[in-house]
Amino acid sequence: MSDTPAVLYLFDESETLRGVQLSAEVWAKVEHLVRPHLPSSAPVAEPEQPEPLADWETLTQYWDFRYPHDYDVTCGACGQSTRDWREDEPRKFRLRGATLGGLVTFQCMDCKARILKRHFKDQIKTETQPFHEKKDPRLNAVYDGNRQYFT
Ligand SMILES: [Zn+2]
Repeated sequence: MSDTPAVLYLFDESETLRGVQLSAEVWAKVEHLVRPHLPSSAPVAEPEQPEPLADWETLTQYWDFRYPHDYDVTCGACGQSTRDWREDEPRKFRLRGATLGGLVTFQCMDCKARILKRHFKDQIKTETQPFHEKKDPRLNAVYDGNRQYFT
């Protein structure tokens, strides 16, 4: 048992109730009831951006590298791999961008890492940028710029 109260009411200096803190034990029991009422945590279905396949087609049309078109993608973060990203169903990697300069970007559908394939005249350099969840500022216990201290 911790000595954290099951329910802790948080008031600001003007005695206005600003929030309620629940112990981990209580939260575990009521989280499923509370979550749907939190606008910030309601699952937001991000509309999936269409793949810029036209950009890829343009790149392949103007392909002046000394090797054939390459379709293999490997995620350096989680190890997901494909021989041809266009043929996976469902997709293991989604095309995110393709420039005439030879930079082709994918997103790993497993771990969300970005895979950058830089095409140079004689070689391809691949780089994986692991996905970082954006820090949620609401997780900070800061209200109106003032930290709340639990006494
Ligand atoms: Zn991955």
